[in-house]
Amino acid sequence: MGEFELIERYFKRPTQKAVLGVGDDCALLAPTPGMQLAISSDMLVEGRHFLSTVDPARLGHKALAVNLSDLAACGATPIAFTLALSLPRVDEAWLAGFSSGLLQLADAHGCELVGGDTTQGPLNICITVFGEVPPGDALLRHNAQVGDDIYISGTVGDARLALEVFRGTQSLDAAGLEFARLRMERPTPRVALGTALRGVANAAIDVSDGLLGDLGHILKRSGVGAQIDTAWLQSSNTQRHSAGLEADAGISPWLAALSWNKRLDYALAGGDDYELCFTAPVEQREMVHAAAWESDTPVTRIGRITAQQGLVVLDPHGQPIARRFASFDHFA
Ligand code: ADP
Ligand code: MG
Repeated sequence: MGEFELIERYFKRPTQKAVLGVGDDCALLAPTPGMQLAISSDMLVEGRHFLSTVDPARLGHKALAVNLSDLAACGATPIAFTLALSLPRVDEAWLAGFSSGLLQLADAHGCELVGGDTTQGPLNICITVFGEVPPGDALLRHNAQVGDDIYISGTVGDARLALEVFRGTQSLDAAGLEFARLRMERPTPRVALGTALRGVANAAIDVSDGLLGDLGHILKRSGVGAQIDTAWLQSSNTQRHSAGLEADAGISPWLAALSWNKRLDYALAGGDDYELCFTAPVEQREMVHAAAWESDTPVTRIGRITAQQGLVVLDPHGQPIARRFASFDHFA
């Protein structure tokens, strides 16, 4: 199969939103008049971001999910994406799986594949997404205000748990591994939450390299500090629910079963979570809950923005925890 037949078979589809999709020199998009374009690219490299053994449908899903997660973190609505793909060989079973996982997620978010590039080479997937947001409504990193609450969506630390099981440093029952593995290989981009937080949150970021490290980007850009509580790491959503306590999210039952120190490491610095970390004024608490409800996405309040620079993690008694948390850095 040649390059053009491959594109035709696996990546060309009729477009609805785009004026012109795959097949010409350029795609043509018509964003809603008056809206700003939000654009982001993410690259996935074999051996670096995924293993060659990963299920191709899950890989297709993840490649787009990490890009949609960036749109979510800006509060943007997805419109379209392009796919630059480098493949060692034409493997039709792989291509069929990859494109089905990719396009299923694309359809779920009304995000159309409008173009790209295909070449031979080491397996490498680069996607650029285009979204739109009303002027002034984008959630940005630089706007956290002193006194803001800090929140995290969903659960954190699950992908790291799966990674540690694969590394052989951690054991887990079959149900736990299936859950953690899905969290790692098939993350859920929090697009609905991101758009619901327009005009509610002051700053947001998606957690890809670890919660504290990514929150650190907000702090640095906003010129503020933060205190992070850890009481939310003491039990999982389901455990809190059955104890009749406020059932947010924060961590999964499998994370809650780990030692305290592992919970701290995996949840606060694990990475690959693709949850949203955001800040919002205290007066907006009800609106944050409304956004969570409306988007059917659990959120947990985990701390506050401080005028004092630096990031302090407090133990459940409110005492600072004196230890380091390393987040992921490709060149560190
Ligand atoms: P050009 O030579 O102008 O770069 P190509 O021959 O690379 O164009 O691609 C032909 C058409 O197929 C273009 O519309 C391009 O956007 C699209 N395309 C190429 N690779 C992909 C891909 N992996 N996914 C979606 N569209 C693709
Ligand atoms: Mg080309």
